[in-house]
Amino acid sequence: MLQKTHSIAGFISAELVLAYQHVNFFSWDTAGALLLGCLAGTLADVDKPGSTMAKVLFPLSALLRILKVRHRTLTHSIIFILLLMMISLPMSSLYFWVFIVSYASHPLIDLLNERGIQLFWPLPMKIRLLPKFIAIDTGSTSETVFRWLLLAITLLIPFKLYVYPVL
Ligand SMILES: [Zn+2]
Repeated sequence: MLQKTHSIAGFISAELVLAYQHVNFFSWDTAGALLLGCLAGTLADVDKPGSTMAKVLFPLSALLRILKVRHRTLTHSIIFILLLMMISLPMSSLYFWVFIVSYASHPLIDLLNERGIQLFWPLPMKIRLLPKFIAIDTGSTSETVFRWLLLAITLLIPFKLYVYPVL
């Protein structure tokens, strides 16, 4: 999936954590959490040479390349998410969960991609949730439709929580 699609999925993840933790919508914490969600959602593609995250986090992407970590393997795996959880424990509960859920949204939506991901890395099998003929190819029209759907959800969550909570 494209970086903008992952950013939106990360944004939704942050919204869900904010709603779950009943954080005041009009606060600096909300702004920080939404920003963190957008960034963490794209983070896993640091393993993809040429991606924005690989450029921004150059030392890390260079290290991954030296270690011959291929795209959609280690950084898209459950074991890596567990490792991130351990590293992120000193964070406050809000930022911890925003970071982890947003990060995890990345492999989650990549599971809809036609090439699949090595979710159970170091086991080599690639996991894909959709049959190939309806799987979402990166940059395809179906990804654009999927992104618009995610965008609608970003608006729906605050609408449901603050404007029309009774619906
Ligand atoms: Zn990815």
